[in-house]
Amino acid sequence: MATHRALVAHENGPARFEQLTDDDLPAGEVTVDVRHSSLNYKDGLAVTGKGKIVRSFPLVCGIDFAGTVAASDSPRFAAGDEVVVTGWGMSENHPGGYTERQRVPAEWPVHKPAGLSPAQTMAIGTAGFTAMLSVQALEDHGVTPDQDGEVLVTGAAGGVGSVAVALLANLGHRVVAATGRPETHEYLRSLGASDFVDRAELAEPGKRPLDKQRWLGAVDSVGDTTLANVLKQTRYRGCVAACGLAGGTDLPTSVMPFILRGVALQGVDSVHCPAEPREEAWRRLAADLPLDKLDAATTRRPLDDVPELAAEILAGRTRGRVVIDIGG
Ligand code: NDP
Repeated sequence: MATHRALVAHENGPARFEQLTDDDLPAGEVTVDVRHSSLNYKDGLAVTGKGKIVRSFPLVCGIDFAGTVAASDSPRFAAGDEVVVTGWGMSENHPGGYTERQRVPAEWPVHKPAGLSPAQTMAIGTAGFTAMLSVQALEDHGVTPDQDGEVLVTGAAGGVGSVAVALLANLGHRVVAATGRPETHEYLRSLGASDFVDRAELAEPGKRPLDKQRWLGAVDSVGDTTLANVLKQTRYRGCVAACGLAGGTDLPTSVMPFILRGVALQGVDSVHCPAEPREEAWRRLAADLPLDKLDAATTRRPLDDVPELAAEILAGRTRGRVVIDIGG
């Protein structure tokens, strides 16, 4: 029987490469030959074993993938279709994308949007999809480019942040990037950032319940004191889309931004996002993300490099998006 190479998490220690067969695939209607996956913060935690991501061992890591349907028991998909799968508990309790072949329930994949190559869908990947959901959350709360003001993106040089900067700038927003790495300023400017904030300033525990109003809206992938400070600086009836915890899980805030300025705090979850808004977000990504900027934010690496990359993303040393090339 043919074997496929996969990066598998075990209860103790980091994930390791193994040869699996079709008998190892889980139940599901759609079997996919995986072409690409991507590297996300959560993958760093799962592959190194440093975060409690994987809940059922052994488990193939990788929270997203793009590939070609090899076999389908669902009328929605046929052999040869190109699909994208993100989230849904992959690399938590369902095997994920760091493998040459995977099987998933029919509700999970979306058809690859026209205009994006399979590799570009994973350059977007979970992080970029989350950035789009965050931008849509701002739009739902009335944060639009026709207003005079700035939109902040925290964790800007990371995966979610880079795509959020490119999307917001392309939509016509004036984008301010919060980053801890001055050496990424030129890169962030090329994605569309027009100004910068030092992330250390934003992470400083604030002394006052409210600061001077600055942001029309914000996409926050950092959390903790950073998110608390962003809320204090958000303008009257502005919105903050909270999608990440790169700086911590706490939220040491007061009710003041909410009850005195009507600020909205909108949580963003990409994992269990239902099918309809999922398809809509992918449609928007294909329409609104400039592909030259996406390509500029993307590095491509082979599956063999994932253990090394997992440590790098946790150390904050990766920039933008990393596509993992898998099948031929
Ligand atoms: P990356 O590691 O690519 O980016 C995170 C960025 O955050 C870093 O590049 C860095 O930006 C900044 N950062 C890192 N550590 C700290 C710190 N201690 N304090 C302040 N800033 C810090 O990760 P992703 O973009 O893949 O993910 C970002 C976050 O979003 C993660 O917490 C992830 O778990 C979460 N996420 C949530 C999803 C959801 O569905 N809600 C889906 C996908 C991701 P810089 O160098 O510019 O300072």
